[in-house]
Amino acid sequence: MPTLIEGLLSPEYSVLPAMLQERKALFELCESYQTALIKSKFGAPEEVSREIIWRSSRLMLEELQKNPYESHTYQRLVDMGHAFSPALEATTDFRLHHGEAVAIDMALTVTLAESLGFMRTDERNRFIAALMPAGLPICAPELTVELCEVALDEVVYHRGRSINFPMPVEISRCVFLEKRDSLPSSVIGAALQRLSREASRKGCGALFDERS
Ligand SMILES: [Zn+2]
Repeated sequence: MPTLIEGLLSPEYSVLPAMLQERKALFELCESYQTALIKSKFGAPEEVSREIIWRSSRLMLEELQKNPYESHTYQRLVDMGHAFSPALEATTDFRLHHGEAVAIDMALTVTLAESLGFMRTDERNRFIAALMPAGLPICAPELTVELCEVALDEVVYHRGRSINFPMPVEISRCVFLEKRDSLPSSVIGAALQRLSREASRKGCGALFDERS
């Protein structure tokens, strides 16, 4: 049983303010320049493109080097977007690209975060709004409540018998949920319906519909 002090020293509570600022700054760069970067295939503005690649690589390496063999903890920030996406990719026979499946997973995750009171509505909406100009989908008809349940059962096998689900509390920070029943089917179902409504209003469903 961890003591209070150990709990306070868990990775998320020990995140330095500088690192939170770094993550926020990276998000803001993507948010501000994504249309220009996508149009230019990440070529312009060149200094922004380099900055985004540099910062994201460094943040990813900083995360991975703390736990390279996954022997230290199953609570990994890099798992965000990777709870529902593997099952979604498989069910579409991998016609849905990995990045698209991860975007849908992240859209569902921030929607669950808001529904369960972890994340403010404006932060959740800002995150969703940042996916759309990048041409990323926020939902797919194949992602049903039943598939989400199967995906979470699978996650438990891979993450030390708990879901260890990175739950965002703001754009730069997550906490981790351990219990499988902290994500009830009813909340998942309502979140999927909400995303589907938002996607049909804004025309940002799964891109692969057009490819298949
Ligand atoms: Zn991935």
